[in-house]
Amino acid sequence: MSGQVTAITAESPRSRERSASLEARANAVIPGGVNSPVRAFKAVGGGPVYMRRGAGCYVEDVDGNRYIDYLGSWGPLILGHAHPAVVAAVQEAAADGTSFGAPTEREVLLAEKISAAMPSLEQLRLVSSGTEACMSALRVARAFTGRSKILKFDGCYHGHADSLLVQAGSGAITFGVPDSAGVSAAVAGETISVPYNDLDSVRSAFAAYGADIAAIIVEPIAANMGVIPPAPGFLAGLREITAAAGAMLIFDEVVSGFRYSYGGAQGVFGIVPDLTTLGKVVGGGLPLAAYGGRRDIMAVLAPNGPAYQAGTLSGNPVATAAGLATLQVLAEQQPYAELERLATKLGDGLTVAANEAGVPLQVSQVGSMMTAFFSETRPTDYTTAMLADRTRYAAYFRAMLERGVYLAPSQFEAGFVSTAHTDDVIEQTIALAREALTA
Ligand code: PMP
Repeated sequence: MSGQVTAITAESPRSRERSASLEARANAVIPGGVNSPVRAFKAVGGGPVYMRRGAGCYVEDVDGNRYIDYLGSWGPLILGHAHPAVVAAVQEAAADGTSFGAPTEREVLLAEKISAAMPSLEQLRLVSSGTEACMSALRVARAFTGRSKILKFDGCYHGHADSLLVQAGSGAITFGVPDSAGVSAAVAGETISVPYNDLDSVRSAFAAYGADIAAIIVEPIAANMGVIPPAPGFLAGLREITAAAGAMLIFDEVVSGFRYSYGGAQGVFGIVPDLTTLGKVVGGGLPLAAYGGRRDIMAVLAPNGPAYQAGTLSGNPVATAAGLATLQVLAEQQPYAELERLATKLGDGLTVAANEAGVPLQVSQVGSMMTAFFSETRPTDYTTAMLADRTRYAAYFRAMLERGVYLAPSQFEAGFVSTAHTDDVIEQTIALAREALTA
């Protein structure tokens, strides 16, 4: 694609024949036709759109339709699609060999960069997905404390490891399977799930099980039941409770790390967790994630300690190149205030458009992450998030798709603004939303 791709308009031809034909073939060989459930569009209706390329804030599907993209690959693409610095780094790295199974310099550089950005990660391990990062962080917490239970929050998603698929968010919400089949009762029984933003429930859980709780794992900014900010004092309360009980506090910053600020949510809120998980932005759009924390805690890991965790492609040369290039651009540009300004402009525009259309809409935004909830009141936890009108969201999603705007295919997901979005693009999006809300 040469340069910028422009959005389709309501007048453009919108055949999705090739997508439909790929979907039919996919259904024969891939369960549900997709390699990750939310991609199947079950929550919004219609078939998935198969993408073939992206540039900046635009994506183009296999039929040649173009969309302004607010999915950003579910968060990683803070610099937009095919950022030249990232593409160049990936090409250069790939030309030198794609995997060695032996240590490489970029792993050290990336670990140093992450640790410098988030000093709570005195030591860290690179892995290949957020799921792996969260699963491994829990193992470390259990190994360090010698305890077995973990506490999480309803509607928070930390990947699909068995013990974390309890009252989980993201696809688990819209699929109506908060507890996945295939997770044993024994494993699920080690997980306590309580409402987000509710310190009293956390205190009660610790009163009952405190001596057995290895860790609290929390999204410091919830993004998997739609975006929900932490209430004032919530994160500080978790820090106090865990410190008093000798439990680990794990911040899952897979979404917020290098997204809300260069130092993550922990930098902005001034809370020092014991362990942190990272993914998405840190891998610049390639399969890379990380987990780390206090040196004495990470010392439990093999080869130094008794807790095992490994990976054939961990710290992969191409993925570390993409991560390093992305962090380099972010460190130099520090685009966070500008991203927030653009996201606020979009949120304000959507709010005005919804008011004009007489549609109840609550824009919940933190930095460049946002969810427009079709609700009368702003959600603060899973129960209140579930009050949003999914049918209305589905209609809005489809009307936006027809107008060339690609949103998350579920009400309970985050949308992301990237450095490639401009004022013009935001204004165009608001104008299209105005049409979509009255369609
Ligand atoms: N934690 C959070 C907060 C996430 O949003 C996600 C994925 N959306 C994960 C963990 C799991 O990451 P992955 O999909 O890379 O396994």
